Amino acid sequence: MANEQDLMEKIVSLAKRRGFIYPSSEIYGGINGFWDYGPLGVELKRNIKDAWWHDVVRCPAAGPDGQPIQMVGLDCSIIMNPKVWEASGHVGGFADPMSVCRECKKHFRADQLFIVAFVAFDSSAQRQGEEWGTVAEIVQIQSDPEALASGGLPREDLLKKKAEARRLIQAKLTKYATPVYFKSVIASDPVTAVSAAELSPKERKHLRLPSGREPIAGGAYVLKEYPSAWPAPPCPSCGAVGTLTEPRQFNLMFKTYVGAMEDSSSLAYLRPETAQGIFANYKNVLDTTRVKTPFGIAQIGKAFRNEINPRNFTFRSREFEQMEIEFFCHPGQADRWYEYWRDARFKWYVDHGLKSTKLRLRPHEKDELAHYARACADIEYEFPFGVSELEGVANRTDFDLAQHQKFSGRDMTYFDDETKERFIPYVIEPSGGVDRATLAFLCEAYAEDEAPDEKGAMQKRTVLRFHPRFAPIKVAVFPLVKKDGMPEKAQAIYQACAKHLAAFYDEKGAVGRRYRRQDEAGTPFCVTVDGETNENGTVTIRDRDTMQQVRIPGDNVLAYVRERLHI
Ligand SMILES: [Zn+2]
Repeated sequence: MANEQDLMEKIVSLAKRRGFIYPSSEIYGGINGFWDYGPLGVELKRNIKDAWWHDVVRCPAAGPDGQPIQMVGLDCSIIMNPKVWEASGHVGGFADPMSVCRECKKHFRADQLFIVAFVAFDSSAQRQGEEWGTVAEIVQIQSDPEALASGGLPREDLLKKKAEARRLIQAKLTKYATPVYFKSVIASDPVTAVSAAELSPKERKHLRLPSGREPIAGGAYVLKEYPSAWPAPPCPSCGAVGTLTEPRQFNLMFKTYVGAMEDSSSLAYLRPETAQGIFANYKNVLDTTRVKTPFGIAQIGKAFRNEINPRNFTFRSREFEQMEIEFFCHPGQADRWYEYWRDARFKWYVDHGLKSTKLRLRPHEKDELAHYARACADIEYEFPFGVSELEGVANRTDFDLAQHQKFSGRDMTYFDDETKERFIPYVIEPSGGVDRATLAFLCEAYAEDEAPDEKGAMQKRTVLRFHPRFAPIKVAVFPLVKKDGMPEKAQAIYQACAKHLAAFYDEKGAVGRRYRRQDEAGTPFCVTVDGETNENGTVTIRDRDTMQQVRIPGDNVLAYVRERLHI
């Protein structure tokens, strides 16, 4: 864990140092949950968005039937008629249950606040024999950090066991025994909550268990399920007991007012997702283009959520960008399209460099699904701070269009000319976070190795091994020294490249240092104009990953880079 924290700190520090990501309005101390992309960051993020747009809108792969996929783009306004958010359920229900500590005033997401109950085996428990055995066994599997670390049990199995354990414990713990100690922890899921709640030696002492009795971690509980008969859990931050409020709903939408009056008639929201703009325009697209089901509408745009605890660098931000597809199809074909998009989107991340086992596809359990969804899978990445979602692919059924039909009074049905059938299409939604993808590609690209310095001594090197499509700069051009006509020749090569791809010119400092800077920017190729260039027109070109240099004619640089990078 220490190493992982270390790694995250290195990535954050590199991102700042090299101009990928800065804290927003930093000269005023920043503002929590908002980030700015610097000169390299904006190129990286734009490359990711452009690749996505190209691959899903302009040039989509063939669908499951081998036919080309129909996809069109859209760019909607951020502020929409507030009725949109009533129809979508965001005004009424877009909220996380929150607990506030009355003592330290900190907010906690109740579904991430877990209470771990520790129980001693006592005689009455032993009398329950088998039943207790089952509970203890399941709980021990969950809380065994080694089993978790070694990946001994697939996550799906752990989640199943978790659900099972929770049901059993909920029913039996209260019936047969009184938990002797509670600990509240903030964790992303109940499995990590149990391992996070390990007892310290002091806590063990404090427990005053009957001699010879070992406490066991009694399972993780979501606070809202916390039985009222049990003693109040302490605040995870300040440790005060009985200071946490009952969980209550907190709406995540940013409010604003449209026009001069600041009252309920002018209340509007910054969109919390880009999807609803697509649903609101579904009829426009049908009426003004030639698309027929199955077809998709894609959008990239900003969305806003007033997160209580923005954290993990840019991962959970209050302002973020989404890349979303709403794919409309006949209800009878929805399962097939869901599988298609789930697999296609997973493959997209693999194809762009997330090749390691850190990328996972996790189908949701039935009890995890939103009430309207028929199926859902998360594409997850193991960041240094934990496994988190990059993109969700969901079969949202006809829920959204039916809601908008109800709230707007407009007909949202689709008429199929060939079959003479009228229906509300089902929607498959692959919804990805641009900032999350950017962060994942940054984390995956980060590497440390060794490179010789000026004197040939090996030094530690930091390098970002980006996929060529995403590298913010494709080629950097240097004159070896600032004389003998080298800058002019290097400038000419740089200018020729810059017309076609992202190029960079640098003549300051020792050439070794210039290489190092480009390694940290993830630039695949560095070209150096040197003494030999004056003699025969050749330059050296250095590969970021192998650090090998070859000589090629200066006129061939652009063609060489394009060929190697397939761009
Ligand atoms: Zn507190």
